[in-house]
Amino acid sequence: MSDEQKAQYTSLEEIDQMHAALRAGFRSGKMKSIAARRTQLTQLGYLVQDNMERFKEAFAADLGRHPMEASFLDLLPTLSDTKIAIDRVEKWARTERAPFSLNFAATRPVIRKEPKGVVLIIAPFNYPVWLTFGPLIGALAAGNCAVLKPSELSWNVTKLMAELVPKYLDQDVVRVVLGAVPETTKLLELPWDHILYTGSGRVGKIVNMAGAKTFSPVSLELGGKSPAVIDPKCDMRTAAKRILWGKVANAGQTCVAPDYVLIERGAEDKFVEALKEAHKSFFPDKSYKEMSRIVAPSHFNRLKGLVENTQGTVVLGGLDEMDEAGKLITPTIVRGVKEDDSLMSEEIFGPVLPILPVDNVDDALEYINKHDHPLALYVFTQDAAFKAKVFDNTTSGSAVANEVLLQCATDGLPFGGIGPSGNGYQTRKYAFDMFTHLRASLDSPSWLDKIMGARYPPYTVRFFSC
Ligand code: NAD
Repeated sequence: MSDEQKAQYTSLEEIDQMHAALRAGFRSGKMKSIAARRTQLTQLGYLVQDNMERFKEAFAADLGRHPMEASFLDLLPTLSDTKIAIDRVEKWARTERAPFSLNFAATRPVIRKEPKGVVLIIAPFNYPVWLTFGPLIGALAAGNCAVLKPSELSWNVTKLMAELVPKYLDQDVVRVVLGAVPETTKLLELPWDHILYTGSGRVGKIVNMAGAKTFSPVSLELGGKSPAVIDPKCDMRTAAKRILWGKVANAGQTCVAPDYVLIERGAEDKFVEALKEAHKSFFPDKSYKEMSRIVAPSHFNRLKGLVENTQGTVVLGGLDEMDEAGKLITPTIVRGVKEDDSLMSEEIFGPVLPILPVDNVDDALEYINKHDHPLALYVFTQDAAFKAKVFDNTTSGSAVANEVLLQCATDGLPFGGIGPSGNGYQTRKYAFDMFTHLRASLDSPSWLDKIMGARYPPYTVRFFSC
């Protein structure tokens, strides 16, 4: 990180002041009404819509991201989620009657959907707008105030968000903290009414422990190695095209990117050929104008190290095509990878696809089940029994057949992990629910004592079956 960048980080004193300002903002009750929530959500929509071109430029500066990808992977999903929240917030926030129960009906039991208070949203670099503003949409719809801590790695996007938030949103309601580890550590020393952390499991543990110290509830959206299981009889061309796209979009820096492929040994050749064909159709002149860059030299070197140490056979891309100065890694396919390979040791988070040949689908399932529950599990098959076998015998955040990535943006679906891939759900209605306190409420009439008076001592009358 340059000194110029560090000089712009929020000071630790300012963080205390922001926390206090948002607490006061929340206590003022200004976010109670649905109208106030809609105003902030609408403003957030304008923030993104009015500045699309500037955001695209910032994405290009941080990640070398093609404007098409900036739009459809970050900006448009944010706009769409904002619109969904504006349209549905009234329904989501409506007080719910408890199911009828003869014993308690007279007390008029209801569930009040109340904001939790002041929440902290810590975001990663890879989808910096959607993963910062997406949860914010849920937080605002639920009537909360929020501090955003976007990633220091996607600095141009982060800086732009910090510039625009005060122009479009109420400063008593939303603030942005700029910074890296010291600033996030400071934030984590403060009590929050909810913390949503999206990022690596390593930091997720730190956030969880910090939350425990201040009784701040924590939701974690983490990563991991998401497998793709291939049925040898599947539509191999489509499978290869979609899997390769999953590794090419944002240069594989996607939490739900297919991390590795499990395929029957005998079908590996056919799949590799299909991948090569897909690659040719994506990048006919191999100029890689559409490929995003790796976000930082440290990540570039980590990926390079994984490829240098693989025992598998590189059949596409690889070390020779890596451009360190440009932080470009071209789509790299490595076949014949074994379980103890460097490429199987950690989440890849880059455009490198290892193929692990197995004897049969049972071996594939055994391998998956020996490891952490993944964030996503993909299967490519047109055979319902094959799909059912894979889904029914595994656990993962999402279970997707014949598609990749799209599950996160699909309206109505939750998006979250399980176990080491995270907990909680950060999109749309599920984000609203995460930032909502379900406040149990009764309003009991005096006449009820005529029926339930026996509850008071002295206990001279038998009460029901006691
Ligand atoms: P990261 O964990 O390095 O950083 C995420 C955030 O944590 C940043 O804001 C950073 O400033 C902060 N941070 C970093 N180190 C810290 C520390 N020691 N103490 C306190 N805060 C710290 O993650 P990243 O590299 O930006 O993102 C990549 C990871 O995020 C991958 O593992 C990916 O799978 C995961 N991810 C998950 C989801 C999801 O929705 N489940 C989405 C995107 C990314």
